[in-house]
Amino acid sequence: MKARFCVEGNRLTYDFCAKHNVPFRHCGKLVVAADSREVEELAALNKRGEENGVEGLRLIDAAEIRKREPHIRGTAALVVPSTGIVSAEELVHAYARVAGNQGANMVTRAEVVSLTPSGQTVRVGLRIGDEEDAQDETIEARCVINAAGLYADEVAAMLGIALGRFIRCAGVLRSAGAAFVADQQSCVSAAAQRWVESRRALYEDVVGDISAGADGDVRRGERQLREEPVADCGFRAQCENAAAGNRGERPATWYSGLRPKLVPPEHKGIVDFVITRDPEVPQAIHLVGMESPGLTAAPAVAEYVAKLVKDVLA
Ligand SMILES: Cc1cc2nc3c(=O)[nH]c(=O)nc-3n(C[C@H](O)[C@H](O)[C@H](O)COP(=O)(O)OP(=O)(O)OC[C@H]3O[C@@H](n4cnc5c(N)ncnc54)[C@H](O)[C@@H]3O)c2cc1C
Repeated sequence: MKARFCVEGNRLTYDFCAKHNVPFRHCGKLVVAADSREVEELAALNKRGEENGVEGLRLIDAAEIRKREPHIRGTAALVVPSTGIVSAEELVHAYARVAGNQGANMVTRAEVVSLTPSGQTVRVGLRIGDEEDAQDETIEARCVINAAGLYADEVAAMLGIALGRFIRCAGVLRSAGAAFVADQQSCVSAAAQRWVESRRALYEDVVGDISAGADGDVRRGERQLREEPVADCGFRAQCENAAAGNRGERPATWYSGLRPKLVPPEHKGIVDFVITRDPEVPQAIHLVGMESPGLTAAPAVAEYVAKLVKDVLA
């Protein structure tokens, strides 16, 4: 599912962005092997990408890396021309706008607090509004799609579903990603090589800011990312040193997010998305473990889920 929906979703996202004026750049990506030990892994990645239908993959040598990215040194790199960058916020706003125009009624600031099967329907208990003046409401739904991301396990549990039934591990683990944002000139030359060598990623966003991300910080059972975990993770200090060494400035912004993981990050191999009708409550569809590339895959996932919804409503 991950491979198929990522490749399809990549194409559909470009089409959607072009059609609905969402800022994006189709810039491609380099996956860099910092030394000869990593070249073998790069070849395996190339092979897997080709098997999954990723188009235009190409291995290049150190000289070509230098030509394309003067600040990056590497033994070899995989060119991924289909990769792009998008304003994620404007993309989801556009999805909401299009859904609204097609008759979807969106209720925001509304927490699903209970799901109760009732004959052919599911009674959805909602708490709407801010805590002091929240109101409780119930919706009788012929079909429920649980796309609650990080909390998909908790929402599934409202129907009495233990995710262990679908996956190899009993709960969803959340790992914190951290990112460093600075303007391009101040950051890239000092920090780039360090990120590449420590197998971290550099990203450029649609307005040209550079971020560097780390991904290894596992937080079990946390509901929200607090400020301290990012400060604690050591990565922040590295970024600040790199930026300070370069222009004496501190990073402009920090942001971070929690990702749902079905297995710990040290797990080797691929863990697929879980998208399934509930075996006990067939009016419910669960989307579980929708980690990266969940945003890219989203329009293809939506087409797949729409078919499942059609079956539920038939
Ligand atoms: C730092 C970071 C970087 C990423 N980078 C990329 C990337 O480059 N490319 C990519 O493709 N993907 C990326 N991802 C992954 C991508 O963001 C996710 O795969 C995607 O957002 C999953 O979408 P979703 O709709 O399943 O869940 P979410 O986007 O998490 O949405 C779930 C929604 O459900 C709501 N919700 C939860 N519980 C309840 C409840 N009880 N009642 C009501 N609402 C509820 C939440 O508030 C949220 O709005 C990244 C993720 C992170 C954290």
